Amino acid sequence: MSKTDWITQEIETLKSSGLYNRIRTIGSPQGAWLVVDGQKVLNFCSNNYLGLANHPKLVAAAKQAVDEMGVGPAAVRSIAGTMTLHLELEKRLAAFKGVEAAITFQSGFTANLATIPALVGKEDVIFSDRLNHASIIDGCRLSGGKIIPYDHCDPASLEAVIKENLPQFRRAIVITDGVFSMDGDVAPLDKIYEVAKKYDILLMVDDAHGEGVLGKGGRGIVDHFGLHGKVDVEVGTMSKAFGVMGGVVAGNATIVEWLRQRGRPFLFSSAVTPPDAAACIAAIDLLEASTELVDKLWANAKYFKAEMKKLGFDTGLSATPITPVMLGEAPLAQQFSRDLFEAGVFAMALGYPTVPQGKARIRVMISAAHSKDDLNKGLGAFMKVGKKLGVIK
Ligand SMILES: *Cc1c(COP(=O)(O)O)cnc(C)c1O
Repeated sequence: MSKTDWITQEIETLKSSGLYNRIRTIGSPQGAWLVVDGQKVLNFCSNNYLGLANHPKLVAAAKQAVDEMGVGPAAVRSIAGTMTLHLELEKRLAAFKGVEAAITFQSGFTANLATIPALVGKEDVIFSDRLNHASIIDGCRLSGGKIIPYDHCDPASLEAVIKENLPQFRRAIVITDGVFSMDGDVAPLDKIYEVAKKYDILLMVDDAHGEGVLGKGGRGIVDHFGLHGKVDVEVGTMSKAFGVMGGVVAGNATIVEWLRQRGRPFLFSSAVTPPDAAACIAAIDLLEASTELVDKLWANAKYFKAEMKKLGFDTGLSATPITPVMLGEAPLAQQFSRDLFEAGVFAMALGYPTVPQGKARIRVMISAAHSKDDLNKGLGAFMKVGKKLGVIK
């Protein structure tokens, strides 16, 4: 027996139960088309909502930053790793989102790990949407606070758990995803805000899939609902619509100042590199200059969903460019994804435990990078595979 035998066994179990994650390799820049494991395929998988991951303006800004500032920050932010570019990015993000202040992190994931434990302690309670993202769940666990889930996107359930539990705790926070990535549905943030306000509780939203997508010119979910100045903490990411890498917390200036003192991934891990920061600033330049990319993203999403419905597919609860194609059982979704790949379309199958049992699906990620022709090719492949597998007539 070796010390790692148990791991080998666990991996075998994953493989035999069909839960082993075989990771594909991309051999091209991100865009409407990808080279995946050597084959050119239409990309329906990435979070590159606006096509910025390989945009010439972002690439040029990154190159210039490398020439002027080098490739690494070489220290954590609080010692010698805060460069002018980091502060410029934070200023630009705050202005873009119309908030008091912003602080950036290495990723959206670390933004949650920094923020929740800085705001919540053992004596406190977290009211958390049942379907919140893994990084929120991990941040909640790290905080040591009591986690009380409420029913997904249900303000009445939120109010019920607040009423029942609030008196037993020192302080409280409500945390929700903005856009839920499996269904593409949007949290009813206006109603959640009303509940949080009624009980005078902090409100935090993780808008990773809403940043650059929802609101005027991609300003996010708070803008979408007209809640400026009312949501205490808005977490975002620059790794999705912004096309780069990095996380952000935008909102209340006192909270942002506190995170510079107490956000552990800020204090104990280095920041994004100069080219990352410069490319993010270039993304804001583009978004502030024009709503063209965001408009194209929504036009593409509306077209694709309408055509899929005409073909007879069920696109679920989506209210965003995330388009689930509901299929039912996981083996069918996996077969569908394999057949699509054969037909030159790369779209991910999601099954239990990522989504509930019997709710397996293909998830299509629409992008402004797709042309009408690309979308039509994708629709053609869905029609062919859907008929072959008896999903549509
Ligand atoms: C993708 C995602 C994250 C993680 O963002 P990264 O910048 O990739 O770390 C965090 N929260 C939510 C809700 C997400 O969808």
